[in-house]
Amino acid sequence: MRRKVLIVEDEPDIAHLVQAHLTDIGCEADIAGNGAAAMNLFKRGGHHLVILDLMLPDTDGLTLCRNIRASGDYVAILMLTAKSTELDRVVGLEMGADDYLTKPFSVPELLARIKALFRRMEALREGVADSAGQETIEWGGLVIDVEKRSVRIDGRAVELTAREFDLLLFFARHPGRVFTRVQLLDKVWGYNHDGYEHTVNSHINRLRAKIEADPAKPRYVLTVWGVGYKFSEER
Ligand code: CA
Repeated sequence: MRRKVLIVEDEPDIAHLVQAHLTDIGCEADIAGNGAAAMNLFKRGGHHLVILDLMLPDTDGLTLCRNIRASGDYVAILMLTAKSTELDRVVGLEMGADDYLTKPFSVPELLARIKALFRRMEALREGVADSAGQETIEWGGLVIDVEKRSVRIDGRAVELTAREFDLLLFFARHPGRVFTRVQLLDKVWGYNHDGYEHTVNSHINRLRAKIEADPAKPRYVLTVWGVGYKFSEER
């Protein structure tokens, strides 16, 4: 399948450099130099990935990210940011970006992130197809029976609480995607209160103690320092 990418970047040199490398790996890439042009191109549809600069002349990347997410169809979003503060990364992910890269970035790093996003989209599609057929998710030695709400690791049954199961299932359905603690509270617990982030940490510690061979070197639920957690992309 030919991948279609929308590059939203007001610096023409960077936009054309990224476009050239995307063409090299077989993608088709549109360029938008501002937010209005980006929404126009995006609404025509067919994009698999949006590479979104945070600083744009007419709008900011966060607003654009929210508008793209609000438009419905799922598209991967990679945010480019000149700012490297933790707050920006967290806000970007909370606005719905799948990943972020800090400028200046190297081309190999950018291409690695893009390929990881494409792999993740394929894995998700396969996961959806599997779980629609037999209601099980398999990942490495981990097998989740969604209907029975049971979990096996390398053939061994693992007893999880309802919340631990929900947390693991949520992660396994989004391999490779980084979630902040606030997002996990919102998606898994269904509420969003300041100050409850430690609840997420303690559940993840308990979950790791049950599913990981070595909880200090987790294989499934990984820590993304300064941001949150993600489920491994390595099967
Ligand atoms: Ca810019």
